[in-house]
Amino acid sequence: MTTVGVLGATGAVGQRFVQLLDGHPEFEVSVLTASPQSAGDSYSEAAKWRLDTPIPDGIAETTVRETDPDEIPGDTDLLFSALPSTVAEQVEPELCEAGFVVSSNASNERVADDVPLVIPEVNADHLGLIDVQQDERGWDGALVKNPNCSTITMVPTLAAIDSFGLERVHVSTLQAVSGAGYSGVTSMEILDNVVPHIGGEATKMETESRKLLGEFTGAGVEWHDATVSASCNRVPTLDGHLENVFAETDADPAPGEVADAFRAADPIDLPSAPTPLIEVFEEPDRPQPRLDRMVGDGMAVAAGGVESTETGVQYNCLAHNTVRGAAGASILNGELLASEGWL
Ligand code: NAP
Repeated sequence: MTTVGVLGATGAVGQRFVQLLDGHPEFEVSVLTASPQSAGDSYSEAAKWRLDTPIPDGIAETTVRETDPDEIPGDTDLLFSALPSTVAEQVEPELCEAGFVVSSNASNERVADDVPLVIPEVNADHLGLIDVQQDERGWDGALVKNPNCSTITMVPTLAAIDSFGLERVHVSTLQAVSGAGYSGVTSMEILDNVVPHIGGEATKMETESRKLLGEFTGAGVEWHDATVSASCNRVPTLDGHLENVFAETDADPAPGEVADAFRAADPIDLPSAPTPLIEVFEEPDRPQPRLDRMVGDGMAVAAGGVESTETGVQYNCLAHNTVRGAAGASILNGELLASEGWL
């Protein structure tokens, strides 16, 4: 078995890691870390467990450690990071310098030139950037990122229609409250309400998507030259980001051709990977967060409502933001790292 640790294990995404890693066929959790306030407590004391399955056996009594390279046993093969980006930007490089491989959710360095930003079904070859990173930074370890939860919902669909010559994308999101973490949005802010702004989110969608769809040259990534404009909104759903996408392509595909391209999106052979990658709905009022966020055990993207517009095509897509959009994405990247011999 590959021994893994979870950094920031007590938070919204950290708990998803713990849940999804329970019974994993390749990974065994050996270390859990959080803030200095939680260090020394048992996991069940430190984590206010909010998922609808019990804390896995053997995890509840595990002592939470500080998030510090000296606290991580040297034989830990892989670290998953669910740290706030302000903490991650300091700690993750220290861990990589100490020789650890880190598969991270945190937003820092996602668009850095030498950091692989990866969705295994879309751009697995970008892992080759690790060689560039290790050369440039002198690390024995490595830092690999998965994209922001709203980006990962849309990009598999864009990759599927890039064969029509993707030129321009406009996207408007309806994002669940869990995307802001446990203390991110108060009930007084979000009940009976929609908040038409999520700080920094639009920029993440506009940049990360172009890097993900870009080409790995061996020395770096040439970003895709499509333009992407995003408007990000917080809505009172618990989990699952729904997005309305308007895409313009060089060719002029019929809606049926776009839906077929979604259905034909290549799955990947990794333990947590869904088949199909994109679940296509024919009903015009699907996908919906409550009904469809668990397609493919929360790892697939749901798409529907494909229609022609004056300038191209529009459709809706949806993914579970803390599964495919966060912990599940990092775990899938970890499985790719393992299968390609990077651990
Ligand atoms: P969260 O619920 O606030 O959890 C934060 C975690 O980090 C907790 O375990 C916390 O430990 C720990 N932590 C806080 N300060 C720390 C410190 N100084 N040193 C070490 N550990 C510290 O946040 P979240 O929603 O899980 O998000 C985690 C990361 O994933 C963020 O970078 C976020 O942007 C990213 N992300 C989230 C989503 C989502 O849908 N929620 C999606 C994609 C990416 P304590 O319990 O001890 O405070």
